[in-house]
Amino acid sequence: AELYQVEGWGEPYFKINEKGHIAVLPRGEAGGELDLFNLVQDIQKRGLKMPLLIRFSDILADRIARLNECFIQAIKEYDYKGDYKGVYPVKVNQQRHVVEEVVEFGRSYQFGLEAGSKPELLIALATLKTPGALIICNGYKDSEYIETALLAQRLGHTPFVVIERFHELTLLIEAAQKLGIQPLIGVRAKLTARGIGRWGDSTGDRAKFGLSADEIMEVVAQLKKANLLSSLQLLHFHIGSQISAINVIKTALREASCIYVELARMGAPMQYCDVGGGLAIDYDGSKTNFRASKNYNMQEYAYDVVAAFQEACREKNVTVPTLVSESGRAITSHQSVLVFDVMGVSHPQFGEPQPAERGEHSIIRNLYETYTQIASDNVQEAFNDASQFKEEALSLFALGYLSLGERARVERLYWGCCQKILGLVRELDYIPDELADLEKNMASTYYCNFSVFQSVPDSWAIDQLFPIAPIQRLDEEPTVRGTLADLTCDSDGKIDQFIDLRDVKSVLELHPLREGEPYYLALFLNGAYQEILGDMHNLFGDTNAVHIRLASSATGEQSYLLEHVVKGDTMTEVLRYVQYDHEALLESIRRESEQALRERRITLSESRLLLQHYERSLSGYTYLTSEPQRELARS
Ligand code: PLP
Repeated sequence: AELYQVEGWGEPYFKINEKGHIAVLPRGEAGGELDLFNLVQDIQKRGLKMPLLIRFSDILADRIARLNECFIQAIKEYDYKGDYKGVYPVKVNQQRHVVEEVVEFGRSYQFGLEAGSKPELLIALATLKTPGALIICNGYKDSEYIETALLAQRLGHTPFVVIERFHELTLLIEAAQKLGIQPLIGVRAKLTARGIGRWGDSTGDRAKFGLSADEIMEVVAQLKKANLLSSLQLLHFHIGSQISAINVIKTALREASCIYVELARMGAPMQYCDVGGGLAIDYDGSKTNFRASKNYNMQEYAYDVVAAFQEACREKNVTVPTLVSESGRAITSHQSVLVFDVMGVSHPQFGEPQPAERGEHSIIRNLYETYTQIASDNVQEAFNDASQFKEEALSLFALGYLSLGERARVERLYWGCCQKILGLVRELDYIPDELADLEKNMASTYYCNFSVFQSVPDSWAIDQLFPIAPIQRLDEEPTVRGTLADLTCDSDGKIDQFIDLRDVKSVLELHPLREGEPYYLALFLNGAYQEILGDMHNLFGDTNAVHIRLASSATGEQSYLLEHVVKGDTMTEVLRYVQYDHEALLESIRRESEQALRERRITLSESRLLLQHYERSLSGYTYLTSEPQRELARS
């Protein structure tokens, strides 16, 4: 079971129960447990098909509470004389139900929203109803964006317009003068401290966003001139997402807190510092500064933020700011789980090789001899020999000296050698370079009912690792090692990198399929960024999604409420994105069938069946929905 490191990344929301199923504990240590396998079966009985995105509202609530409580604890511990008022960056998951729940669960903490664009601002203005909560307006802005934000103050909102580009200052001053509204202004600093990892370029001298020290000085001067310096109250920075090393965060905090203090000393009535996102999550359970993990926890992060500002402000006798963070990944990742079923599996062709006969080609006899002599102390040599014999055999075949049957015999023997070598290599502490790819090359392929491009785009685009595990049979040894292939006709539509405590694995331990039994896999921690970045490659649309809340049944047993069902895209919907009209499509196929009927190329019943399929498909799910005829393993 620890093969999947559930105890590492899953803690405290996921574990393996006594039935060998994944259990979900949506409230963490506070109790209440759901069996994910049973839940999936229940949801399917309601007519919702795989793949399925399950969102656990209680996890979202718990993440928001945890983040806030960590800051409350740090503020108490350091006797910090300011508050924490977090905001949720809408871009991380804009789904209405998610944003509404963030607002609901964050109300008691005055948790606000961050918008990175005009459409996100529209969401924030319409959704946030918490008095005193902040709306941070980031992203590039035009006059319409700025004026909308300013006017929102009249509705009782607290929108901070953060200047990301110097040019926005002019627009902001004009808008304030035109509307006669005193704006709430923030500046985004471009820190010299560099981030690390995939998003490391979000800061640094050449970063896309933020103002240099020189530009910040100019902002202060111009605001003073426009009599608006009293509006400048917030400093913002963001050094990238999934910052895996705490020392990188500390360095950035040190630099930012100095800028904050300087702004205050220049006369701006500074009140807030917004430390952006970056709070990482542990995708692989390793708790290291490897890119899929992090070497600190949420509490340490909060301590460091509070300590940095406490120290810098104390040194220069400046009032400490209200602290704001824009933690997105840390809030939404855990709450959703993607479950999909395996449609079939293919294994590489091999089996116990037949001994070579005396009259067979010498290359076959040599290869068989290599096979019989494989032992743990000669794996590398045996692999080199087998590979060379195979190469030679292919050349002989190309020159006409080997029959197709002989070539097939060579290939079977070669894979037999690889299989035997792999068995021995798995026992070794050190794997020679030449043999490193053997595991991958010998892996089985599990064909899965989902699209990587739609549901886990970051796995394809930036090689992000997500924990993946079967949700059943976890009390049974997984005897197959496989990679996952999705439904798209694209060779990139696969997952062949998996979490591992020491490194990255190229195969996942899986179970052989059983006749008539579904085999479900789940991909966890995918609640941040994946949904909106997902695309419709091959026209696979949004998956079905459900929102689950813990509840007690009438008999007091643990149960759940299926709060919202968000049906996945139908084929009509995805076709509409590419400008195909439902009626026009139907009309065209009807006309064609009439023509075929007239010319007696189709019978009436065939034509009716075709039209029925066509029409039903249009209103159907884009994924495979018929009861899968699971292909069983070929042995
Ligand atoms: N704030 C800004 C300005 C961002 O660009 C991002 C994302 O990169 C975030 C907040 C959210 O970051 P994270 O998901 O790492 O918390």
